[in-house]
Amino acid sequence: MENCLFCKIIRGEIPSGKVYEDENVYAFRDINPQAPVHVLVVPKKHFVSLSDIQSASDGELAACLRAVRLIAEQEKLENGYRLVSNCGPDACQSVPHLHFHILGGRQMADQMA
Ligand code: AMP
Repeated sequence: MENCLFCKIIRGEIPSGKVYEDENVYAFRDINPQAPVHVLVVPKKHFVSLSDIQSASDGELAACLRAVRLIAEQEKLENGYRLVSNCGPDACQSVPHLHFHILGGRQMADQMA
């Protein structure tokens, strides 16, 4: 996707704090961190959100979750972390490229929303 912010980051056209990359997935530090560790895990293929994954393969989707596990280990989140994917306007999704927020390094709020 030509003008997608995260596609530009994946292509290296916009700088990012990369923490992980494989064939299917790119992960980088959120520019406006909400926790001591705040990493965005993004499939390299463009999907708008979880509402748009009909054409994604099981392998592409599983790759995101496997990357989450590896990054959590890399970031030493052995005490736990929160995984969030905002989907659509009610969830305040601001970047229309599927992504998963890994939030950790502190005690999360009891209430999720
Ligand atoms: P969401 O609101 O769930 O769509 O999350 C989008 C996230 O992307 C927000 O947490 C932003 O802080 C983050 N973000 C926006 N631009 C950049 C960027 N250039 N580099 C890293 N993170 C970004």
